[in-house]
Amino acid sequence: MTIKGDNLSKIADELRKDVMKMVHNAGDGHPGPSLSIVEIIVALYFNIMNINPQFALWEERDRLILSKGHACPVLYSALARKGYFDLEKLHSLRKYGSILQGHPDMKVTPGIDFTSGSLGNGISIGLGMAVAAKLKGHNNYVYVITGDGELQEGIIWEAAMAATKFQADNLIVFVDFNKLQSGGTVEEISALNPLLPKWKSFGWHCQEVDGHDTALLIDAVSRAKTVKDQPSVIICHTIKGKGISFMEGDNSWHKRVPSDLELKKAIELLGGEDK
Ligand SMILES: [Mg+2]
Repeated sequence: MTIKGDNLSKIADELRKDVMKMVHNAGDGHPGPSLSIVEIIVALYFNIMNINPQFALWEERDRLILSKGHACPVLYSALARKGYFDLEKLHSLRKYGSILQGHPDMKVTPGIDFTSGSLGNGISIGLGMAVAAKLKGHNNYVYVITGDGELQEGIIWEAAMAATKFQADNLIVFVDFNKLQSGGTVEEISALNPLLPKWKSFGWHCQEVDGHDTALLIDAVSRAKTVKDQPSVIICHTIKGKGISFMEGDNSWHKRVPSDLELKKAIELLGGEDK
C-alpha cells in the first residue's frame, strides 16, 4: 500500500519521536543524522518501495542500503511500523543480544537488506545487487542512502565509475546533503562542492531536491525510473536534527543522548504523544 501527502508527514513525526525515545533509552546513538533522513526513509518505505514484510526475503523486492549505517534508529522505526517486527523491540536498541544493534546487521534484523556502518561501501554493495538483479531478469530497484561526509571515501567514486560502466539504471542513490559530518562542516573538512557536476561528470543522471519534502522525493524517484542506461543520484538538501528546533543544525547532536527534559521537549515539539 502506498501512502501520500499529510499522512506521510504524520508518519515522519512518529518516526522522529521513536528515534528520540530509542536513543534516550539506549543511552547512546546518533539522533541528528537519523533526523535528517526521516523524509527519505518515509518516502521509500511508505510509498516508493515494492516490498512485503510478510515475505521479507522475497527475491524480487526492492532493496535499501543505509550506507550511513549509524542513522539506523530511523530505519528500525520504519521497519517496525511496517510490521517487520514488534514496535516493542524499539526499546531494545543497542542492548546486549537485541536484534537492533548500533549499526544495521542483516543477519539479526528482519527487513535489513545489507549490513552497513563502515562508511563508503553502500553504493558498491548496491551496485552489485543492481547488476545481479539485471542478470536475473528482475525488475526491482536498489536504493542507497549515503551521508555527505562519507562521499569523501574513495570507494564511493570507484562505485560511481563502475555504475556508469554497468549502465545500472536500477540503482538510485540519495545523498543526505546536510553539510555536516561528525567532526565539523563538510566544507571545512574536505569540501564536496560543486557536488552535482561531480556526479554528472561520472555519467550519472542527477537531481537536486529538498530532502524534507516527501512529494518532491517521490517525484524525483519517478523521474529517475524513466532514465535508461544511467544510474541516478538525488542530492537531498537536508538539515541535521530536522524537526526538533533546538537540535537543527547543532552538530553536537551527531552522537548525543537527550536528557529527560530534552526528550520531553522534543516530543512536545513533534505534537506530543499519541492519544
Ligand atoms: Mg552529513
